Amino acid sequence: MNKKLIDKLFQKECLSKEELLSLVGLTEENEFSYLCEKANQKKEEVFGKSVYIRGLIEFTNFCKNDCYYCGIRCSNQKAKRYRLSLDDILYSCEIGEKLGIQTYVLQGGEDPFFSDDRLVEMIRKIKENYPEKAITLSVGERSLESYERLKKAGADRYLLRHETATEEHYQKLHPGNLSLEARKICLKNLKKLGFQTGAGFMVGSPYQTEEHLVNDLLFLKELQPQMVGIGPFIHHGDTPFYNYSDGTVRQTILMVALTRLLLPKALLPSTTALASLHCDGRKLALLSGANVVMPNLTPPNERKNYLLYQNKIVDGEETAESFQKLKEEIESIGLTVDLSRGDYRG
Ligand code: SAM
Repeated sequence: MNKKLIDKLFQKECLSKEELLSLVGLTEENEFSYLCEKANQKKEEVFGKSVYIRGLIEFTNFCKNDCYYCGIRCSNQKAKRYRLSLDDILYSCEIGEKLGIQTYVLQGGEDPFFSDDRLVEMIRKIKENYPEKAITLSVGERSLESYERLKKAGADRYLLRHETATEEHYQKLHPGNLSLEARKICLKNLKKLGFQTGAGFMVGSPYQTEEHLVNDLLFLKELQPQMVGIGPFIHHGDTPFYNYSDGTVRQTILMVALTRLLLPKALLPSTTALASLHCDGRKLALLSGANVVMPNLTPPNERKNYLLYQNKIVDGEETAESFQKLKEEIESIGLTVDLSRGDYRG
């Protein structure tokens, strides 16, 4: 029954809500493997064996928001806060340059210190030094005018996960000053301004149901983002969700695979959270529809402080220092490292 639905999704690239609900809840191992195989096949039809590489620079862990799940929420007094200077950021870019990386992803909390002027200066400086490289920003919700300035300064892409597409679930994950509606407006503005835009969500977050996950898929299908970040929720001991269980590798991979079949051309990272949960997490996602990996270029002494969740990997394959090992891991599963910019091909 579910295999037929998987075939239908493979051909039509869409399904009804009820049909998606059946796939989100599938329990048979042979159906799960079939879904992963078909997602991999779809990815190969569009992208071949390429795995795109993005260099991640986590440049501030100050945040004015208080998301209940996040380790760098403003109420977490135990977080050791840092901001990288422009020189530190440029040094991280230089490390990426030496590795041949063509995209920098600049991510941070919503840090008021990084005003439009400061972000514009940062983008301009990076583009001055590396005009051919793509810049992806991931600095949260801002006004249309602000996004416009960042775009004009040279930013190419923007990641802003919607976190959950169900309003009542959104309210359970965030304090009252944050709303799904505001998040959606930002995503629409980013698309309108011509950013290659990334949405996404956590799998297994507190109070999440299978219906919520279906809503996430339907929202993605409607939004048509160029990138989608999907990772497991992992608890952090110093947040209100310290007691909640983590998302699973299986459910996360299932959601990556379904997303690949719904949005064949999207760039889908195999996330750090997945690799943090299980040593084979990264490889399994790359064989089930994901096609992007983001090695960490943040200076090693600060990396451990960008602690969104417990046991986040800050060493190992996903770091600048171990880039060779990452390449070997990717090649060991028959895929190839693609160091081109890896822009969305519409
Ligand atoms: N401030 C920016 C924003 O809100 O988009 C970017 C930084 S934010 C920390 C990046 C992402 O980390 C969030 O979109 C969220 O999905 C993820 N994240 C935060 N806490 C997490 C947790 N406990 N487990 C898994 N992912 C988490």
